[in-house]
Amino acid sequence: MNIRDRKLAPIWDKIQQGQRLTLADGLALYTTQDVIALGRMANEVQQAKSGDAVYFVLNQKIEHTNICVLSCKFCDFAAKKGDERAYEMTTEDVLAKLTPEIREVHITGGMPPDWPWERYLDLVRTIHHRLPEADVKAFTAVEIDFFHKKFRMSIEEVLRQLQAAGLKTMPGGGAEIFSERVRKLLFNQKIGAKGWFDVHSTAHRLGIPTNSTMLYGHVETLEERLIHMIKLRDAQDETGGFLTFIPLAFQPGETGIKPRNMFTSAIDDLKTIAVSRLMLDNFPHIKAYWVMLTEEVTSVALNFGADDIDGTVGGEKIAHDAGATSPTTIAKEKLIQMIRDAGKIPVERDVYYNPIHVYADNVIGKIPYLNSVPFHAHLEKQQFRLLPVVPRRMGVLAAQGELDAGLFSLMDFLRLEDVLEPLGWCIATRDQVKSVMLFSKEGWRDLEGKTIGITDDTATSVQLLRVLLEKKYHVHATFERLHAGVNDCSRFDAVLLIGDEALRHNKAGLDGFELVFDLASEWYEWQKLPFVFAVWAIRKALPEESRRDLAGLLERSLDACGDDFASIAGTHGRRIGLTEAETQEYLEGFNYKLGEREQEAIRVFRRFQAELAASGVGNGDSREG
Ligand code: SF4
Repeated sequence: MNIRDRKLAPIWDKIQQGQRLTLADGLALYTTQDVIALGRMANEVQQAKSGDAVYFVLNQKIEHTNICVLSCKFCDFAAKKGDERAYEMTTEDVLAKLTPEIREVHITGGMPPDWPWERYLDLVRTIHHRLPEADVKAFTAVEIDFFHKKFRMSIEEVLRQLQAAGLKTMPGGGAEIFSERVRKLLFNQKIGAKGWFDVHSTAHRLGIPTNSTMLYGHVETLEERLIHMIKLRDAQDETGGFLTFIPLAFQPGETGIKPRNMFTSAIDDLKTIAVSRLMLDNFPHIKAYWVMLTEEVTSVALNFGADDIDGTVGGEKIAHDAGATSPTTIAKEKLIQMIRDAGKIPVERDVYYNPIHVYADNVIGKIPYLNSVPFHAHLEKQQFRLLPVVPRRMGVLAAQGELDAGLFSLMDFLRLEDVLEPLGWCIATRDQVKSVMLFSKEGWRDLEGKTIGITDDTATSVQLLRVLLEKKYHVHATFERLHAGVNDCSRFDAVLLIGDEALRHNKAGLDGFELVFDLASEWYEWQKLPFVFAVWAIRKALPEESRRDLAGLLERSLDACGDDFASIAGTHGRRIGLTEAETQEYLEGFNYKLGEREQEAIRVFRRFQAELAASGVGNGDSREG
């Protein structure tokens, strides 16, 4: 990378070594004149996380009322009851805005003095029932805190009732900037940082993932922006429940805080996106919110570290009341074009960032776990483009014909054998795996009739667990879904985790679960065979030439890694808290060639699978896991 600002070179070294950036590093990034190098650094980090993908969602904003008991100085949206501008939407008004293709309903608004609690629950419940395919993302931490105080319920009880009504995730608004100085100046009636984090950590504990935001470009300093990011990074270390970070550019409006036309500059917007991508190393996504940035800046931001542009929105008021110059809604085709203009793959997502549709050709699915890095570390992509996606979603996209190739979970590969052809490479264990782990309060035989929380990410590990329970230990347990990253595990008798999350907990332990079982070890002790977790395969419909090209590229990437995984250990391993030695030992435990013993292991597993399906245990369908 060509870095002209010498201050940036040591920071880039730290990033490549998986080290965390400090406030001083952040200031150096923010104040650099070498904006292109900053953007390229952020883009490389984003590429490592989400490849060529940029996400968007078909969403509908519902701003149910602008009547608000608070009077934040920077707000052009709020009105008092009786004001000419004041409005309140009825349930019918809300339903009239919903169309069948919507996948996310985003609800935020003012805080009126006289709405009863049941009206909010009814709003969420009605939307959930009308559009069960859409996920409800509702109420900022400020609104949740308002409900807690007004209706005299704990924050946890407020969230539990909303969750029961259909709430799936929460937006990140209301954070503004975590600075007491600025809070006193601009929004002194609002909860501060502690209150905001209390709400979000409670939501994460209940299995509700949330977003996070930062309002910048008003009276805050660069240090205050960076402290805001560092606080979020610390909180993410604790809970892992934040999906994305959204820097919100301040819209000057009529509040007098800034002159009416004094929008943030495009350079400031792009720097903020890039700096947040580099500082927030534990956040999966950074959103360039086109409503506040404009379409033009958003498209450029997709090469400055952002991998999400929000969605169709369907009529926005809060930012537009403050003078935003973007349209209030946008067509899906325009979003796709914006992403293509940036040279990226448009990926339509749901509220959890699961890909629903991919709008590009030559796309390869990439499992975002450490054990598949040797396939990608030196992969020359040539005509192919990479889409990081958890195994379960890879199967869904391949079934829709939207992926050309990938490292498929074994269950998906077996289900799609008619359309997929193996490439001779796989992820197979020799004996233990260390990253498909059952954390349990009970021994295997005492799990009879108990409830096991299972990862949402893959089918194969779930089916392996089922085979071990039913066929090896003759025990029947009930499975219930977890969402990766947000865990209230205490209510389960055992929890199955996979991938990097399992590796982390294998090292650090999982509170409340004394026993830890490695599923591949359990299989090996029983069958004296490796276990094949995933198989590289390509669509049969593609020309032979593509098959040969990809098989060759994979072989070259593996050869480039050789038996020495030190370079991977230095970067990828450190990111998830493993030492170089631990990473190396972990990777050396896999066999990547789909040989005769691996084929035999697949045959044995397939037989067990068929027996379970015949006896009505599990449905043998990978969509289950
Ligand atoms: S920013 Fe939110 S809480 Fe503050 S006055 Fe506006 S609507 Fe009310």
